[in-house]
Amino acid sequence: MDAKEIDQKREPGQEEEAKPADQAAEAPSPGPEPQQLKIPTEMPLLPVRDVVVFPFMILPLFVGRETSVAAVNEALGKDRMILLVAQREMAEEDPNPEGIYRAGTVSMIMRMLKLPDGRVKILAQGLARARIMEYKTQKAPYSVKIELVEEPHLEMNLEIEALMRNVRETLEKIIQMGKAIPEDLIKVLETIQDPGRFADLVAANIGLAVKDGQELLELTSPLERLRKVNEFAHKELEVIEMQFKIQSQAREEMNKTQKEYYLREQLRQIQQELGDVDEKAAEIEELREKIAKAKMPQEALEEANKQLKKLEMMHQEAIEASQVRSYLEWLVELPWSVSTKDKLDLKKAKKNLDDDHYDLDKVKERILEYLAVRKLNKDMKGPILCFVGPPGVGKTSLGRSIAKAMGRSFIRMSLGGIRDEAEIRGHRRTYVGALPGRIIQGIKTAGSNNPVFMLDEIDKLGMDFRGDPSAALLEVLDPEQNNSFRDHYINMPFDLSKVMFITTANLADPIPSALRDRMEFLELPGYILEEKVHIARQYLIPKQLKENGISGKNIEFKDETIQTVIGGYTLEAGLRNLEREIGNICRKVARAVAEGRKKKIAIDSESVSKYLGVPRFLDEEELDKDEVGVATGLAWTASGGEILMVEASVTNGARSLVLTGHLGDVMRESAQAAVSYAKKRLKDFDIAENFFDKHEAHIHVPAGAIPKDGPSAGVTMGTALVSAVSGQPVRRDVAMTGEITLRGRVLPIGGLKEKSLAALRHNITNLIVPDRNKKDLEDIPKELRDKINFTFAKTMDDVLNAALVGGVPGKKNKNKGRGKAPAGKARAKTAVAKTGIRKKKARLSHGKVVHA
Ligand code: ADP
Repeated sequence: MDAKEIDQKREPGQEEEAKPADQAAEAPSPGPEPQQLKIPTEMPLLPVRDVVVFPFMILPLFVGRETSVAAVNEALGKDRMILLVAQREMAEEDPNPEGIYRAGTVSMIMRMLKLPDGRVKILAQGLARARIMEYKTQKAPYSVKIELVEEPHLEMNLEIEALMRNVRETLEKIIQMGKAIPEDLIKVLETIQDPGRFADLVAANIGLAVKDGQELLELTSPLERLRKVNEFAHKELEVIEMQFKIQSQAREEMNKTQKEYYLREQLRQIQQELGDVDEKAAEIEELREKIAKAKMPQEALEEANKQLKKLEMMHQEAIEASQVRSYLEWLVELPWSVSTKDKLDLKKAKKNLDDDHYDLDKVKERILEYLAVRKLNKDMKGPILCFVGPPGVGKTSLGRSIAKAMGRSFIRMSLGGIRDEAEIRGHRRTYVGALPGRIIQGIKTAGSNNPVFMLDEIDKLGMDFRGDPSAALLEVLDPEQNNSFRDHYINMPFDLSKVMFITTANLADPIPSALRDRMEFLELPGYILEEKVHIARQYLIPKQLKENGISGKNIEFKDETIQTVIGGYTLEAGLRNLEREIGNICRKVARAVAEGRKKKIAIDSESVSKYLGVPRFLDEEELDKDEVGVATGLAWTASGGEILMVEASVTNGARSLVLTGHLGDVMRESAQAAVSYAKKRLKDFDIAENFFDKHEAHIHVPAGAIPKDGPSAGVTMGTALVSAVSGQPVRRDVAMTGEITLRGRVLPIGGLKEKSLAALRHNITNLIVPDRNKKDLEDIPKELRDKINFTFAKTMDDVLNAALVGGVPGKKNKNKGRGKAPAGKARAKTAVAKTGIRKKKARLSHGKVVHA
């Protein structure tokens, strides 16, 4: 059946067309008092689907179910009384007695109208509460025996009055919020004194759910009903208020977007009139799309949208517009959420490192450990690795290999000469021409937020400073704070925590200590000749062949050739120049092959000069005999160790000491110390004590244009001087280093490893070093150590004994094992023998301070 019972007071207008014009049923009005009517104890029952009928309520009902129409007809045939009871389940088509509540309302059918589709519409008025006592029929249509519910009488009191007033006010509010409740309900309520009736009337009109309505109907105490109604009314008000709030929010949102749309449209029209639109609109659109695609964090997204709006309002040509534009470009191009996936296959990583680099086992091992830990703990806040070593020893290419092994992008940035914090952190946007700092620039170039980021020359940072770049760098490198690195230009936190930073330095000492504490140093000291030959063969030559488009079939390098290139054209700890020279040769050969002049060229030592020109490091200062007044010292520079010749001579004259060769203060002072020492020992050396009254000493350190400083040339200057004074030559196959005191003690120096390497490079294998540097021998790889013959000197006498032909001067000092070459291997087997011992003059590169 389709008895659609509709409470028209709740849903006005819905069934309008079905309602005959003469039915003015909506207005709740006190109908006939039930007491005046005689209510029978048995009557037909009409189950109602979706509404609870209360006494005094008048409502139209559509009756469609056949059994229900029968019940209506039966009532109409008698005294028009019918019991209206709600059914428990609205969907139930044919409810049995269990499916129908036990309490209902005896009602009077006031009108009936047959509709063309067979249904009937009735207008019923509730008369009195009643309980079903018994079902008289077993099947629908039901006829039931009922019992009217007696209501206790209630005197008006304060609570009742307050409750009634409260309910009225609540209803008024509900009406004000726009809920469809008949407005005259309030007026009618004002006239009602009986709390029970008051409650029923309200209950009938506030659209209660069937369950709630039934609960109210079944309460016999008018006071309780009143309280309940009050509660329901309040709840209803709250729901409506919430609903209203939600609606108005939604509406506001709508209004805003609509308004924006219209304004933007207007703007577009205006701009079109002015003729500057299309380009701009297209640009804005493009930026909008880019912003949407950039997957920025919320904060950045909001800022980007804000700036975009700003840009839209500006004239395209305005200076500010171009600033905003480039800012937006930066924002959208940063890889906010682009990461490459890490490959952490240790075997492959090892292969990668081995394929690209010869030796360097310690460093490779440490890198693999790093990767292993990373594999086990993805969120590792690892130490920052710092590769320390002279140029060209493979620091950068190691970084590149790490990136390759991990599948990350690689970015390199030099910190050399950065004096300004803004270079790291960027300029604020208010500056004209402001840009982000180099870190953010690097990240943008990398295109992912987890590249391997190599910071080169961290030891050259802030040497002549303006602001403090190292402080900014600290923030970049600190795993605790770099997840929200704030560049001044971007002015948004950017997460750098996934970046793998690697730093490089030539020397560890000049690195600001706060930075040094955060880093783990891996040293790459440089290569000796054999290693270089090996690396050239295995790595550099194949690389250069490939780069120049030729193959092993076109060119042949002999080991001897490579040695000649290393010896005659490079003087370095690393491999940069060697690689360049090999490249030069390959290029020339490539040309010959391309021009069809030759098919294959074999390069030997003699023909090298055809390709590379005259050797740059000539045998100018080849010492073919031990000379008086010339001693070989050892020094270190940022590009590794060097040898340093010290010359001394004495001439007639009054001044006691002349120093030349661009010497720094410390070096000058140590020269003076050397002279004072010599003066004091003159007597021991069998030389007139007043020698220096008539003679002038001159100490010169060649390569006079290059600044040199440091105390460690003290013993070299002392040796050269004593040699000059005594006339005993200095052995040409010995090099020395050490600080000298006035009393002739020898103090330790730094950079022993670099100095040893330099000596070997120059084929000098006898080294005199301070006794207290013994401990540093550990740092020198064993293969090198074995090639060198160390003499450990405590005093200047030890030095002179080993360095001067004939040992310490003076009769008294005879028989001290003088003049003998220190025991052991006399000379590097690697020497390019025929060119003599000190094959070339130590050409110090310009622009670097030499520390001796
Ligand atoms: P750095 O960064 O230390 O100045 P680079 O990484 O630029 O040095 O190295 C210079 C060149 O020498 C590169 O071509 C590099 O591949 C090569 N090289 C350096 N060390 C090795 C090595 N151990 N094995 C193979 N090639 C090397």
